[in-house]
Amino acid sequence: MSRIAFIGLGHMGRPMVENLIKAGHELQIYDVVTQALASFRGKAKIADNLQEVVDGADVVISMLPMGEHVQAVYLGKDGILQWVNRDSLLIDSSTIDVVTARLVQEAAGERGIAMLDAPVSGGTAGAEQGILTFMVGGEKATFERAQPILSVMGKNIIHAGPSGCGQAAKICNNMILGVSMIAVCEAFNLAKGLGLSQQAMFDICSKASAACWSLTTYCPVPGPVPTSPANREYAAGFTAAMMLKDLRLAQDVAADAKVETPLGEHAKALYEIFCDAGKEQMDFSGIINLLKEMKRE
Ligand code: NAD
Repeated sequence: MSRIAFIGLGHMGRPMVENLIKAGHELQIYDVVTQALASFRGKAKIADNLQEVVDGADVVISMLPMGEHVQAVYLGKDGILQWVNRDSLLIDSSTIDVVTARLVQEAAGERGIAMLDAPVSGGTAGAEQGILTFMVGGEKATFERAQPILSVMGKNIIHAGPSGCGQAAKICNNMILGVSMIAVCEAFNLAKGLGLSQQAMFDICSKASAACWSLTTYCPVPGPVPTSPANREYAAGFTAAMMLKDLRLAQDVAADAKVETPLGEHAKALYEIFCDAGKEQMDFSGIINLLKEMKRE
């Protein structure tokens, strides 16, 4: 069993830590918001700072909001690269930009420390059930070393390629997710306007060619999928702010790579309107309400 330091216990980090504890690993945890740590008292060692959380750890996992947080945690004044054991394994599972992912991995590599970018897909339900998909960037041998730990939290652990490729895969995945969520929301609104019940719409489309994760697992209307945020008034889950972050990341790299992604661009614009209306902390599937409010002339 490993001694694992886990940094960032938000919507995703908390259930990931639960599964690591259940599997018998020894956990040391840290979050800037101490409230996030309280429920682990007695089950994990609660650290007061970054130096303390990585002390003696074999593996370090981070699950932070954005690239700037990852950069600060690894490379900042109190950053963990100066404290971690040289033979420890570092895994960043946050969704961040490829440039920061590569920068941090390079800095770790210069100190002889193995590191992977390993963002996830599957949402909070996937994290709770330990069935996340991990998209992993880094050296193959490091990927193989991480497998036993990642498989506690995930079902599909895929090597995407060298450093940063996990993030590249995740950004493409979430561009599809943002677009597909809007498409599913539009279709539910249209179905309602045509007199089709939400349940009938779900029963048919979930078995037809429109079936996708946004419909079958994360259905944006209450009823058909009891675990989806629509059943709890769109409490996140995955916040609209996080989806907007990912759609912006996709557009930034699409511009650099000179690749046209018109639906990705449009999805970003709609999530900007939604977030600007004060809904950043609502689940991203709540965008169905924005679309409902956009009355056709
Ligand atoms: P979250 O905001 O709920 O959690 C992030 C946590 O990091 C918070 O508790 C915050 O206090 C902590 N944090 C921020 N800066 C810190 C620092 N310097 N040191 C220690 N802790 C710090 O976010 P989340 O929903 O758990 O998502 C985390 C990452 O996973 C994001 O990059 C997100 O895009 C990605 N992701 C989220 C989901 C989802 O469904 N929520 C799904 C897949 C991927």
